[in-house]
Amino acid sequence: MTRIKLAFIAVAALVIALWLMSIDTALISGGFWSVRGLLVPLTGILAIAFMAVAVLLAARPVQVETALGGLDKFYRLHKWLGISAVIMAVLHWLVEKAPKWLVELEWLEPRLRAPGTGAEPRPFASFRDLAIDVGEWSFYLLLVLAALALWRRFPYHLFFKTHRLMAVLFIALIFHAVVLTPASYWSAPIGWLMIALLASAAVAAGLSVFGRIGKLRRFTGEVTDFHFHEGNSVLDVGVKLTTAWPGHAAGQFAFLKFEGAERAHPFTISSGWAKTGRLAFSIKGLGDYTRRLPALVKVGQAITVEGPYGRFDFGSTRGSQLWIAGGVGITPFIARMEALAIAGQQQDVDLIYSTGAPDEGFIDEVHSAVGLTGVRLHVVDTGLEGFVDLAKIALWVPDWRGADVWFCGPAKFGDSLYEAMIANGLPADRFHRELFEMR
Ligand SMILES: Cc1cc2nc3c(=O)[nH]c(=O)nc-3n(C[C@H](O)[C@H](O)[C@H](O)COP(=O)(O)OP(=O)(O)OC[C@H]3O[C@@H](n4cnc5c(N)ncnc54)[C@H](O)[C@@H]3O)c2cc1C
Repeated sequence: MTRIKLAFIAVAALVIALWLMSIDTALISGGFWSVRGLLVPLTGILAIAFMAVAVLLAARPVQVETALGGLDKFYRLHKWLGISAVIMAVLHWLVEKAPKWLVELEWLEPRLRAPGTGAEPRPFASFRDLAIDVGEWSFYLLLVLAALALWRRFPYHLFFKTHRLMAVLFIALIFHAVVLTPASYWSAPIGWLMIALLASAAVAAGLSVFGRIGKLRRFTGEVTDFHFHEGNSVLDVGVKLTTAWPGHAAGQFAFLKFEGAERAHPFTISSGWAKTGRLAFSIKGLGDYTRRLPALVKVGQAITVEGPYGRFDFGSTRGSQLWIAGGVGITPFIARMEALAIAGQQQDVDLIYSTGAPDEGFIDEVHSAVGLTGVRLHVVDTGLEGFVDLAKIALWVPDWRGADVWFCGPAKFGDSLYEAMIANGLPADRFHRELFEMR
């Protein structure tokens, strides 16, 4: 099981376990209204807890990169927590509303409270009505924002703007949760967890609202050179940093913001770190912004580099490695070869570079990066040779099962290789992969 699946299960299990420790479990067998009285807070707590962890991850806490396998991976966890928060919010809304509708339709007996008992007291009770309205309207807005986030055709730059509203929405939902959570929960284990989670996530949401995420890892520099490869639409950009860069491991990435650009985009640093302040990037025209970039970039242009991030670090338990690059997914491997050259090291590696748009100049760059590193390069022109699959890989690298596999390229290519390799005996933890998509 991948780390992000485990992390997701751990979050859900922790919340449910602490909730069970905090309630009167006799209520579980107390009939419909009693169970409903438990499910309303449970679904609400799960929704806000998932959302809180998602907001914390969106703040790019580098401290958890190693545990979760890198920022690209924990953005995936952020996404699944967000989806789960929405599902829980829908359940919370249904468990709250549906029984009332059924009573109105006279399909369900209304709840009968024993004389002298009422709803459990809640702190800030005078804000109750306001908190209910805030929760309901935030829920409707949450559904709209979540639908936009999941609708792949909704342009990324608009998604980016609307997604920021989630942080404001989250703060509104904290108010809803704090006012409406039963008072007894706050002095029980689930309450302690909620206080810690909501307080830290509120700070993270504030950082997001004020555009402060990643601020401490931003460095400035300028473009020193660039070259556009017509054949594969890849723009090579050289950058000289003017503020002290902490250094990076080959395979890490950074968010680049060119002067005049509307926002930062993630790109792998395609150079090794030689402590000279120089970084290189290879940027493929894949969308609106990256297609326009060759016409916008200038020598001397100011640039902000935020990073480094990621754990695509070529750490391996075995001697040999198999690297597979699809298109511009070659960048981390170029960085790794440069790093080997800088360190004067060699490595037992087969590198398969699959490209549907071969550019002679770019392929020459890859060959020269190979240099004396010992890497055996196989360039595959998919237009002539067809897509790379496991059968072809097994011909080029018969002992592929004995190697650690490092893959970077299109998601579908990665999925099909992963499935084929796992089905043919490669342990899942020996297939390492960079996720080029954060949405
Ligand atoms: C860890 C990582 C490393 C990457 N390394 C490289 C690389 O070395 N070379 C390369 O050419 N491409 C790389 N990419 C992909 C690159 O970030 C996108 O192609 C680029 O951002 C597309 O922007 P666009 O506006 O032109 O395209 P759009 O059509 O607007 O977006 C296409 C997709 O790119 C992603 N994207 C767009 N803008 C952003 C943003 N600001 N932040 C995060 N994701 C965004 C989204 O998934 C979006 O769906 C990398 C991506 C990631 C996540």
